Amino acid sequence: MCMCGEDLTHRTLLYRLQKALSDVILPKEQLLALRESSDNVQLMLKDFFELWQLGDVTAIAAELPHGTDGLVFTPVMVPYAPGTCPALLKWKPAEMNTVDFKLQVIQGGDMKKNIHVKLLVGFKGKETWQVKHTGHWLAKMGDMFKKLREDPTAFDGKIAECKWHASAKTFTPSDQLKFTVNGSWEDGGWVLQRLRELPGPVPDVAEVREMLSRLSCFSPPPLRRSYDLVDELQQDIELRDLPAFPAKGSNYYWGPWLALAVVSAFILEAVGIPTLASQSYKSDVLELVILPVVWIAAFTAVVVLVSIVFGETGEIRRSDAVCYPIPDRARALILLGRGKSDDLPNIGGLNGESYCTRCFLWRSEGAHHCSTCQRCVTGFDHHCSFFGRCITRHNMCSFRTIIALFFVGAAAQILTLLIINTAPARTPAPYAASSLMMEPVGRYYN
Ligand SMILES: [Zn+2]
Ligand SMILES: [Zn+2]
Repeated sequence: MCMCGEDLTHRTLLYRLQKALSDVILPKEQLLALRESSDNVQLMLKDFFELWQLGDVTAIAAELPHGTDGLVFTPVMVPYAPGTCPALLKWKPAEMNTVDFKLQVIQGGDMKKNIHVKLLVGFKGKETWQVKHTGHWLAKMGDMFKKLREDPTAFDGKIAECKWHASAKTFTPSDQLKFTVNGSWEDGGWVLQRLRELPGPVPDVAEVREMLSRLSCFSPPPLRRSYDLVDELQQDIELRDLPAFPAKGSNYYWGPWLALAVVSAFILEAVGIPTLASQSYKSDVLELVILPVVWIAAFTAVVVLVSIVFGETGEIRRSDAVCYPIPDRARALILLGRGKSDDLPNIGGLNGESYCTRCFLWRSEGAHHCSTCQRCVTGFDHHCSFFGRCITRHNMCSFRTIIALFFVGAAAQILTLLIINTAPARTPAPYAASSLMMEPVGRYYN
């Protein structure tokens, strides 16, 4: 589940196995080798084989001293599933397949033959398990059934391993609750194999010691690493091997142009109107307050616009620090050569972190993947279509400033209009200048 603080639940089986090998088993072996001591507790990793090695598995199985009762097909790409893993498949030859039932013996009279055995199974209720009749009855066949008939009380209420025999015949009594000879015979049946051994009492310390000393006599085969896929999966995917970022939305490209056009037009108007007015009307407020303010505001607006379009948005860039470790689901995606991960949801991590399966990097809480900019940004607020950029806590100040400057520009224009209604008009400058210039000349000629 967790190893050295690393949450392994979202890791695939292969990664978990590799961790067990590299962080538990091998260090233990190395430590023992260093101390030149032996240990009574042996840790071994089961061998896992690829699906295409099925032939080898069958060959190995034939040589096993204890025989084999089937194959377990384990999914390797799915994260840890607590309880039952629905993706895991256990296969057994049909003749080896057994099902466990709880037996309920129904006896009728003293006659040993008067016996029917109900097969019960447990259903998980809301809070407790409920034992219910499957509708099936035990086939009256086999050696174990003979034993049951001799001593029904030893079998009643016990868990028994049963095997389906197509050749068996089963008697289904018409009365489910008490013994009856009325009923019908059906083809096929569950034949009793053996009773399940229930776990015995907890062994005491001496027993455990004895067991361990016996275990130490058994020398395990040397560790073999037969999981190529582990190596393949764990091979380092370098930053440059990560799939390209998804293509940015068109708004990212046309947004800044729209902003540039609208802001330029507004600046032209907000600066132009007071400037023209100051040429025609004489007003100290216009000259000493409004004009300087609009020019400063215009300059600031240009700086702010540039900073929003080209400045820091809190975009998370790929680096060793944020791209690793690559979760296995993402790793599989990368190794399979699939850059597109629309069907793979983001992967949760520790401390509110999550892994973006579009950027292929880890981001902290509060970060968001913008579907227009196609990047993860920290402190995301919204994507602004007007500027074509994400507005985050990094450029929020600029964003608010440019909105405030809009009101400054609008206010300057309204004030200018009010002023020109009341301020005295200037004497037309060109006329005044020419009269001054002309006068001495005129006088000269006069
Ligand atoms: Zn992202
Ligand atoms: Zn964005």
